[in-house]
Amino acid sequence: MEKHIVILPGDGIGPEVTKGAKGVLETVAERFGHTFTFETHNIGGAAIDKQGTPLPEETVEACRKSDGILLGAVGGPKWDNLPGEQRPEKGLLGIRKQLGLFANLRPVKGFDSLLHSSPLKHEVVAGSDLLIVRELTGGLYFGEPRERRNDGQEVVDTLFYTRKEIERIVEKAFESAQVRSKRLTSVDKANVLESSRMWREVVEEKKNNYPDVEVEHMLVDAAAMKLVTNPGYFDVIVTENMFGDILSDEASVLTGSLGMLPSASVRQDGLGLYEPVHGSAPDIAGQDKANPLATILSAAMMLRYSFGMTEEADEIESAVQSVLNEKYHTADLQVKGGTVVSGSQLAKRVSEQISEKVTTENIMSCYV
Ligand code: NAD
Repeated sequence: MEKHIVILPGDGIGPEVTKGAKGVLETVAERFGHTFTFETHNIGGAAIDKQGTPLPEETVEACRKSDGILLGAVGGPKWDNLPGEQRPEKGLLGIRKQLGLFANLRPVKGFDSLLHSSPLKHEVVAGSDLLIVRELTGGLYFGEPRERRNDGQEVVDTLFYTRKEIERIVEKAFESAQVRSKRLTSVDKANVLESSRMWREVVEEKKNNYPDVEVEHMLVDAAAMKLVTNPGYFDVIVTENMFGDILSDEASVLTGSLGMLPSASVRQDGLGLYEPVHGSAPDIAGQDKANPLATILSAAMMLRYSFGMTEEADEIESAVQSVLNEKYHTADLQVKGGTVVSGSQLAKRVSEQISEKVTTENIMSCYV
């Protein structure tokens, strides 16, 4: 298969972690006989410095024409005093909006050797493997009007959804559940909110199209509690923008390692932007200390969700697991008895795991 990937390194550790992930994608292409071509563009602070805007038009155009986008991170103290519209974050919000990336996918999976860093007891968090599907472009964060009124004595925000917006995110969640354990929990506040009652109606309608997926409804307060008391209960969670924002951040600390969490923002035709959950970590930028695994796992998500390359994605995820089993890690991770290596060494080791498997398979095939 031929795929064209746009890389947006961004700021801080972004260039380091995307470089590591690109190397892994090249190894996967070689191993599985694909052709991946790459193009790099500026976003965020890097784009402000070079082109005077956090989201240059040529970056948007390149992303539109691509099959998938891999982003590092944006932002840093250098640009903190700029006015809101010119800040690096505007580049990220702008690209999601301009490409219509309405579904945010955040997998949370515990790696055994890192679970001791979780704030939860080992027996509670062990085996957790869930995916939060969050609506990203509607709801309370975008609804109008939102304003202060009556001399600042009143304030209004608007929670607005069209049925179509709810339908497309619910469909995306059912499709995601189909390629996982086929269990979907729809989270809402239907005892209070009219928008949640419509959300429930849509889920009930759509479930007939996915008879293989078991679906349940859960109130957001109950879901927030269950995430910390029994995270292993969940497979796929689907919810609206604000609930998803809060629940995905709650879920992200369960496994105890920010440097391990990938994410995706995708749309119906499969185009997606893939990025680590962490920020640009200016405190360690340029020192080759950054953990590239979240970005490497984001690249695996690109293969799975945008390119339909399940085996290749599985291969990257199992290579990451193997490297952790070998106890190689960057300084941000606490691995008992482990060896601290640089970010570039860690990324290289993941690539080696993938190519070593080829070598072993080739040797084995000589004996068949
Ligand atoms: P951060 O995630 O950048 O850093 C928090 C802490 O985690 C720091 O100590 C950092 O060194 C460490 N860390 C983060 N990622 C790491 C990695 N891959 N390997 C090793 N250590 C890692 O969050 P912050 O400090 O709140 O924000 C720094 C900048 O990043 C800000 O300008 C913020 O606006 C921006 N930010 C960007 C995004 C994004 O681009 N999606 C997300 C969050 C924050």
